[in-house]
Amino acid sequence: MVAHVPTMLAMIIAASLMMAACMAVVGWGRRRDGLRRWAAALLLNAIGHLLLMLYGLVPNGVSIVAGNLLLSCVMVGMIAAIYQFQGRPVRWWLLLASPLLVTVFVIGFVDNFPARVSFVGLVIGLQAVWALSAALARRHATVGRGQWLLVAGLGLEAVVLGGRAVVAISAHEAATSILQSSVLQTLTFMSTFTVVLVSSMGFVFMARDRADENNRVMAALDHLTGVANRRSLIAALDRDVARAVRMRESIALMMVDIDHFKNVNDQYGHPMGDRVLCSVVNVLRQRVRAQDLVGRYGGEEFMVVLPDTTLVGAEQLARELCKAVEESRCPMDGVEGPGISVTVSIGVFGGRLDSGDSWDMLIAAADRALYQAKSNGRNRVESAVTLRRPGTPMAAHHNPETLPSSLY
Ligand code: GH3
Ligand code: MG
Ligand code: MG
Repeated sequence: MVAHVPTMLAMIIAASLMMAACMAVVGWGRRRDGLRRWAAALLLNAIGHLLLMLYGLVPNGVSIVAGNLLLSCVMVGMIAAIYQFQGRPVRWWLLLASPLLVTVFVIGFVDNFPARVSFVGLVIGLQAVWALSAALARRHATVGRGQWLLVAGLGLEAVVLGGRAVVAISAHEAATSILQSSVLQTLTFMSTFTVVLVSSMGFVFMARDRADENNRVMAALDHLTGVANRRSLIAALDRDVARAVRMRESIALMMVDIDHFKNVNDQYGHPMGDRVLCSVVNVLRQRVRAQDLVGRYGGEEFMVVLPDTTLVGAEQLARELCKAVEESRCPMDGVEGPGISVTVSIGVFGGRLDSGDSWDMLIAAADRALYQAKSNGRNRVESAVTLRRPGTPMAAHHNPETLPSSLY
């Protein structure tokens, strides 16, 4: 099948302009996504193909030389957009070397269609490989499937332009000018049209996928300390409780509350109080196991979920945490000295669960133990050994002699 070249060029121009406009709108105010650079590249693509379409109507210097120059700048814009998305610096002089090369070659071979087509195809094909490797270089840092559309589009561009370069130079090309129809011309322009749509859609989806991922992470984390927030803590605890019931495993939970934290705020101010909260969180995080989850339950109260952990193990860890927090110091900006020291009280629940036990029962038990730790003088660990189930007596506080063996 051989298609009419000016019609295909008109399709490419229309598609490029529409996609450029859409991306400029979507990318408005979102500089780091690179959408505006990509939109600029699409605009160059539209103008470049327009100049090719005007072949014969305007001087060759404008149509062929400027047209090819702009087309090789399209990939420069796309690579720069991918770099901006990835937060990498752009070395413009390196990127702009290829358009310069294309311009020099096209001026020298302005009357030699096969040589020109072959060289420009080769350079833009290599630029597409560059863009492709840039897209793949940080693929693990990019979530979603948008990047695979981008990669598919760029891959197609590289293969088609590489093929065009080989066919044109081996004298199998039937067309002798840019507007003449041939199988090769049809394949080239149809794939350019596809690439404009597929890669651009992929790039927009990448930005959207990243925004979705950021929102998902932000919704799960406490913005001050960076640990799990109350919502994701409860979700994790609910999941771990269900698993502990199913597997007949022990599970433990700690409620950690900073002692007299109000005094820290009153004495050093709220911003310093915030830093103390972060420093306590760091101490907790450094000492728990990989499978344990530290989160901020609220204010200056933290929760540690310890799957597959007995009460004895949790108590030992809680005592270590108490000591580590007491020994740690939160440095003060511009102030010499050891820094601020705080202590924590910890309420622990640990043991095996029965079916029907739920996450809120564990929190209530650990909370009761925490209350006990506060009443008994703070900077200490107390434990609740039972859940308050309907028909059971009120929670007993930690007395190792009376612990049921199932808790170990
Ligand atoms: P206790 O030993 O009984 O726990 O005493 P406390 O002073 O720690 O407890 P209280 O509940 O009276 O005070 C908690 C304080 O924590 C009050 C509140 O202003 C402070 N707080 C809660 N959230 C934040 C926060 O995000 N940043 C700062 N700086 N302070 C906070
Ligand atoms: Mg407190
Ligand atoms: Mg509190």
